[in-house]
Amino acid sequence: MNPILRIAPRNADLGDGLLIRRMLPSRQQRMVGAWCFLDHAGPVDFPAGRGMHVGPHPHIGLQTFTWLIEGEVLHRDSLGNEQVIRPGEVNLMTAGRGIVHTEDSLADGQRLHAAQLWIALPPESEHCAPDFAHHPVLPRWREGGASLTLLAGTYGDHAAPPRVHSPLLGLDIASTVPTTLTLALEPVFEYGLVPLSGEAQVAGERFATDEFAYLGRGQHHLSLLLGADTRVLLLGGEPFAEPVHMWWNFVGSSRAVIAEAQGQWERGEARFGPIGDGSRPRLAAPPLPWRAD
Ligand code: MN
Repeated sequence: MNPILRIAPRNADLGDGLLIRRMLPSRQQRMVGAWCFLDHAGPVDFPAGRGMHVGPHPHIGLQTFTWLIEGEVLHRDSLGNEQVIRPGEVNLMTAGRGIVHTEDSLADGQRLHAAQLWIALPPESEHCAPDFAHHPVLPRWREGGASLTLLAGTYGDHAAPPRVHSPLLGLDIASTVPTTLTLALEPVFEYGLVPLSGEAQVAGERFATDEFAYLGRGQHHLSLLLGADTRVLLLGGEPFAEPVHMWWNFVGSSRAVIAEAQGQWERGEARFGPIGDGSRPRLAAPPLPWRAD
């Protein structure tokens, strides 16, 4: 067992009372395989008349991966997709060379609990065609007292439907009562896990809700002790040769790729098409954090 890196979440306020904890990227660990971004949103009970409302914004070079635990969220994008995501479902939006989307609570005054992740596209796929897929049915099984849902990748005989561009794993593990289980790992993958509720013990170390455990690579098994009413998200994947560059909603293999996208978004170029009639105000990108060449 490698020493476990304990990563504390950073808090951010996305507005309208939507507090999130961000575990990736972190100073200690930027990525886990291709997983390059992890926000844990809620659980939050929005007051009447309020909800999550994220206006039109662009992405490149990544897949946004939404795992909904509670609530209902409406996705719209510049490809013309409109899709409500409900608990137990995954939305996978492939930005590739460029897409614009919005995310809104289906109704205000409701509860929301979700994990919002990004999967970096490897350099050979970063300019692929944009796409959106909704996955209402995922492989589910029980092991001991735990209920497992395969969100991405393969595990044993199970294969998750979301189409990804590098070898990776996303696994949700939920228990209502204290449960021990042993999971098979791929030694070539690096892994990280975080309790989204409750608490877990890994190699005798206790991790509270929102404490991220980076486990490294080279291991064949993982022994977990889950507390009562606990939900753990396990992420894995083959490490990237080079960490991706990230800025605002853009991921890319170079700063130049990101700066080009930012300029095109600011100028309203056709790469980033409208959603519907295009009347909803678009989000403004903050200035690039480095000097443009
Ligand atoms: Mn987005």
